[in-house]
Amino acid sequence: MGKIKVLSEDLVSLISAGEVIENPSSIVKELIENSLDAGTDMMDISIEGGGIDRIVISDNGTGISREDCEVCLQRHSTSKISTKDDINEITTYGFRGEALASIAAVADIRITTQTEDEDVGTLIVSRVGEIPKISDSSRPIGTTVEVGELFKKMPARRKHLASQKVEGQRILEVVMRHAVIRTDVGFRLTRDGNVIIDCPPSQSAIDRITYLWGSDIAKGLVEVYYSDEGIWVEGFVAMPPVSRGNRSREYFAVLKRPITDERLSQAVESAYSTLLMKGQYPVCSLDIAMKLADVDVNVHPTKREVRILDIEKVSSIITIAVRDALGVEKPSNESHSLEGYFERPVVKGVEPKPLTGTTQFDQVRILPSIEHMTLESFTGIGEDVEPVNLLGGLFRIIGQIHRLYILLEDEDGLLVIDQHAAHERVIYEELRKEVNEDKVAVQELLQPFVLSLSPTDVERILDLSDILNNIGFSIESFGGNEVSISTVPEFFSKVASEIELITLLDSIATIGISEAKDSFMDELVKLTACHSAYREGETLNVDEIRNLIEDLSRTQVKYTCCHGRPSIIRIKKESLDKAVGRLGHEAILRFKKRHRIGIKE
Ligand code: ADP
Ligand code: MG
Repeated sequence: MGKIKVLSEDLVSLISAGEVIENPSSIVKELIENSLDAGTDMMDISIEGGGIDRIVISDNGTGISREDCEVCLQRHSTSKISTKDDINEITTYGFRGEALASIAAVADIRITTQTEDEDVGTLIVSRVGEIPKISDSSRPIGTTVEVGELFKKMPARRKHLASQKVEGQRILEVVMRHAVIRTDVGFRLTRDGNVIIDCPPSQSAIDRITYLWGSDIAKGLVEVYYSDEGIWVEGFVAMPPVSRGNRSREYFAVLKRPITDERLSQAVESAYSTLLMKGQYPVCSLDIAMKLADVDVNVHPTKREVRILDIEKVSSIITIAVRDALGVEKPSNESHSLEGYFERPVVKGVEPKPLTGTTQFDQVRILPSIEHMTLESFTGIGEDVEPVNLLGGLFRIIGQIHRLYILLEDEDGLLVIDQHAAHERVIYEELRKEVNEDKVAVQELLQPFVLSLSPTDVERILDLSDILNNIGFSIESFGGNEVSISTVPEFFSKVASEIELITLLDSIATIGISEAKDSFMDELVKLTACHSAYREGETLNVDEIRNLIEDLSRTQVKYTCCHGRPSIIRIKKESLDKAVGRLGHEAILRFKKRHRIGIKE
């Protein structure tokens, strides 16, 4: 007897909205999942014309019996579930029995398949709008599904497809997201005759991700391996500064199903907290496992999302798991308490009594003497430094604190400069000017830098090489998934480290190429400025501080970085006075006047 059954009306009504074939990548996703469900350990995917012209997927799974071939293209025909209870514990990728039927409704399909038990294999030929034809065929055990002429009879939907290039990249992304999780299975992807992914079955997780994301990104990865309360979190996260300008490298899988989920993203992002700059997102690939009953996979038409029943708990475990991997201390209330910094007040002549009870005074301690305080990162510049002229006023440089903020004093109070934001503004305006005048200062590298990237990124970077050349990067293909860089903008060369260059190129690869040329160039300049600017954690000496302030005073928009974040803030002396309950000079005069103090009658 065949394995595939057509689901009853009752059961169909419990299945959420049917499969949707939006574009070639949704076909590839469904076919990959069918092959995985059939227990394949090696699949070969080949696409032409971005998958619009042709998609072929071959596997060495169980194959489909002749009897099952008769029904497999019908709607709601599946071998994977049969009763209502099955819907609550789905262990296969597919369960609705709709993918093949939906594909057959919009494209021509040809399936060649062979099972272990049958002597003769089967060929199904299905053309849109015609009854499928079944005949004998032969091939080794497994299945090959060929899909062509997508939306041939639906010009309106065909028109909605993106370019072959973009559709091809979407497919690459679908394959990568499955391949990164299913390391037990080999994946080969060929596009228009060129092999772009080729990974063998049963690879280690690190070998797989290194292959897929490129060894340079992989160098920044640390392993996540954590479990608590029946939730397992496994995979990799990148140590900063490796990051992206968007969420495209946040890969999640739940029970090995690639999904996207805003809240899982937030859980990881909150673990990074301030480790990443604003606008930068983590690079991670995490597989989250839990009891089947704790997840509902029957919620999204293309299975891109699942519902995790206790999302709060799962999110907080993910945050802890990622913090643990990054070596970030868990924020505890203690770090906010004054414990340890203060001692109990001692009033002359009065013996201190032992602390008992919980009155609020128990918390009041006194500051230790100054020699006990270590402020290594403080660049104290002292009184003898000449005041600087900035924004039309005179300022005394106090120094740098927290290796991030520069403090200046003037007669109205305090100026606090964010060294990264300020430096980014300076570089942005200067580089923008150089680009406009076509006079970008470049630095030739002693020997070309070879970077290994993911197949998608190599392609994007090479597509952009002309425009990148305008801002000083000379980039060429180095074969395979590698590019070589021989020059960089001079601004960038001052900070050029391998990891900074990778992160910059990685961010560039993810900004939309479709944007208007000028705004795209502006984005590139902003990114380059951001990656060339002083970072938090860099100690600046007095000359560097002075230069930065002088450069900043020459910029047109001094008060924000090129992403709109404030670069300078002012704290008025009055605010300080108010904060400590001190009456200002003006207020004292008003007080004296009102009470006629010191005024002769
Ligand atoms: P579903 O995956 O939800 O069951 P599909 O329409 O994708 O529905 O596939 C219908 C049935 O065809 C599957 O249940 C399975 O029995 C069979 N099938 C499809 N693709 C393959 C394959 N590559 N190898 C073996 N069986 C397959
Ligand atoms: Mg399926």
